[in-house]
Amino acid sequence: MKANKVLDNLKRRFPNEPEYHQAVSEVLPTIEEVYNQHPEFEKSNLIERLCIPDRIFSFRVTWVDDKGQVHTNMGYRVQHNNVIGPYKGGIRFHSSVNLSILKFLAFEQTFKNSLTALPMGGGKGGSDFNPKGKSNAEIMRFCQAFMMELWRHIGPETDVPAGDIGVGGREVAYMYGMYKKLARENTGTLTGKGIELGGSLIRPEATGYGNVYFLLEMLKTRNIDIKGKVVTISGSGNVAQYTTEKLIELEAKVVTMSDSNGYIYDPEGIDREKLNYIMELKNLYRGRISEYAEQYNCKYVEGARPWGEKCDIAMPSATQNELTGEDAKTLLANGCFAVSEGANMPSTPEAIDAFLEAKILYGPDKAANAGGVSVSGLEMTQNSMKLSWSAEEVDEKLKSIMKSIHEQCVKYGQQEGWVNYVKGANVAGFMKVAKGMMAQGIL
Ligand code: NDP
Repeated sequence: MKANKVLDNLKRRFPNEPEYHQAVSEVLPTIEEVYNQHPEFEKSNLIERLCIPDRIFSFRVTWVDDKGQVHTNMGYRVQHNNVIGPYKGGIRFHSSVNLSILKFLAFEQTFKNSLTALPMGGGKGGSDFNPKGKSNAEIMRFCQAFMMELWRHIGPETDVPAGDIGVGGREVAYMYGMYKKLARENTGTLTGKGIELGGSLIRPEATGYGNVYFLLEMLKTRNIDIKGKVVTISGSGNVAQYTTEKLIELEAKVVTMSDSNGYIYDPEGIDREKLNYIMELKNLYRGRISEYAEQYNCKYVEGARPWGEKCDIAMPSATQNELTGEDAKTLLANGCFAVSEGANMPSTPEAIDAFLEAKILYGPDKAANAGGVSVSGLEMTQNSMKLSWSAEEVDEKLKSIMKSIHEQCVKYGQQEGWVNYVKGANVAGFMKVAKGMMAQGIL
């Protein structure tokens, strides 16, 4: 395999999909060496079979707003690879959603799910529906309309969706309600369900907590204590909130959060009371982060991201390509020594290069944010067994999964005197999927 050739070919066959090309081009060079040690992979064209999704569904979603106006949106489900288990990955509702974004997410998800060591394949879905400013009833009608199409393609042993940007507990519950009505079964298809619907404790917390657990493992390799460290976080949704919660518990100092309008900088640090305010603001009133600055009299910067603020550790937790090469240089110049990614593909290729060159502790998305899908996997297990584990039990399992992911990264990413976590995560995730694909024959 020649990484460049494969990529050029994909670009020619699937033009106008820049995020998909970006995700593939981040992985291929890191697995080229190990791939080429297995001539049988090349003969069976494993790489194209791994990069191109198994299938993609796309459909129109029609719904009615509160004034009686009818709207249409597009809905998609990308079933990328199911060699290790049922397709598994979230659903995103955001006006920017298109096939390029969902294909990048489904591709990444396949490697991430492989890393968790749980039996899950990779998939992703979503819609270009914009949930901002919609009433509860409009959200419900949209979720129901979306599921009226999607339900025939998913199932507990086929494809198990979850939440992502714009899809939290409320949306999962509406979708699951409609799914049950149509499929006439109650086997837990969809994870991230509320406890009252058979969900798992710690699922809302899992991605944020998991990212902090991964960060702690990285810090341990350099004997660094998290206590008192200054952390910049982007986003103020599910992942950002629970990352902050865990960091407060560990006595680190989170000084920034953001949304798509701008960021707040609170030099005193966001404490428990302030985080409660953010959770209420974002989860209940669906307000803007600028309101935090008014409430607590601190700096708010409109239309910017927080990477210019001085920190020890950065944890991007909003969206793809939110941290550029210039941002990375600023972070490094300000003394940042660790970056752990809560969001999917938040760092641009130039930023990743800068982090790797500086040999800082850089935990890439598919390793660092795998806690969410891991607890989704544990939710599937509990649903199959018709029982529920305590929060402590789930949290312990989450810790041990993140530790094991870190170990795999170290094993496969060891270079002279430092760990390249990007290479480690990609090679470890790839090898398991590749072996499974070889074992099951040409499909
Ligand atoms: P939420 O919808 O709960 O929150 C998203 C946050 O990011 C909001 O603050 C939102 O601001 C901000 N944001 C979204 N899009 C943009 C944009 N284009 N520019 C700037 N800010 C933006 O989503 P999650 O917290 O669940 O997801 C955040 C990231 O984490 C995503 O990359 C997701 O794929 C990834 N992830 C999530 C997992 C999960 O379990 N939820 C698991 C693994 C990864 P606003 O409110 O203004 O839109």
